[in-house]
Amino acid sequence: MIAVAIAFFAAIAHAQDLRVLPVRGNVYVIVGGGGNIVASVGKDGILLVDTGSATMSDKVVRTVQELARQVTASPAPQRSCVGVVQGCLWWNSSGFLATTAAPAAPKPIVGIINTSFDADHAGGNAALARAGRSHIGVAPQEAWIISHESAPPRQGFPSEALPTETYSGPYKKLNYFNGEGVVVWHPPAAHTAGDSMVQFRESEVLAAGDILNMSGYPVIDVDKGGSIQGTIDALNSILDMAVVEHMMEGGTMIIPGHGRIADSADVAYYRDLVTIIRDRVREMMKRGMTLPQIQAARLTRDYDPRFDRNPAWTSSMFIEAIYRSLNPKP
Ligand SMILES: [Zn+2]
Repeated sequence: MIAVAIAFFAAIAHAQDLRVLPVRGNVYVIVGGGGNIVASVGKDGILLVDTGSATMSDKVVRTVQELARQVTASPAPQRSCVGVVQGCLWWNSSGFLATTAAPAAPKPIVGIINTSFDADHAGGNAALARAGRSHIGVAPQEAWIISHESAPPRQGFPSEALPTETYSGPYKKLNYFNGEGVVVWHPPAAHTAGDSMVQFRESEVLAAGDILNMSGYPVIDVDKGGSIQGTIDALNSILDMAVVEHMMEGGTMIIPGHGRIADSADVAYYRDLVTIIRDRVREMMKRGMTLPQIQAARLTRDYDPRFDRNPAWTSSMFIEAIYRSLNPKP
């Protein structure tokens, strides 16, 4: 069943360089449009976590619309229960009723949550908010955009890409959406000062944004208020929220800002390596070594084959970010 579903959703994005993967329940991930884009698709419409890069936004809009069409037209119920994986196809009788009626029109993009205002996470905001509107018809209604109040939009974003609503404090609960509670969590001073993570409480999916990066070291934007300690704290808070499925890959699915979907074992490994590298840098700082000396010591050597693969965020830049956030003096 899962293999069929994957083939089905892979077909959607074929020829568009984007891939769509069902995660669990109503939650899907769209890969290849910049940062990972997470979509909850169901009876209440579409909720997006991040929107990818501006240059990819036409393709992302088409892929999201096609995903909505496929999900709406599929015999799977627009569920208030959770997911093929958990078998609710077989006991939610409203699902069978739906198959006898004409397929409903796809629901619009209702809202967007930004994990940060990086160009590869919020660059598609304007195009996707506009696409949300165009579906509504008579009563034009904007797709709302939420980010944390400490997420300063970067220069160059058009006004329609900016948040229509911000939240302060550690979390914001959204209204029940597609049959589940959705909570936006703010880990302070991690990747930036204004990060958000989004928890789909029934599907057991957490969209972590750039606090977790399965294809590189965590990007810590010190100039935008990020810090190594905040990143470690945020990784620990993901582990606090996540549920382990004993002796199996499974439990809470954590979607990183970049790279493949993770489970709590992946996050624990990542938290450990980030902590170990932080400790190594701190030890050398205590011995009075300078940043160039610390960078020359190749403290990330044992992790580099797997994580030093992003020319835009090298191990040397990661070390510098740790150094600067442990040593705020210029
Ligand atoms: Zn990113």
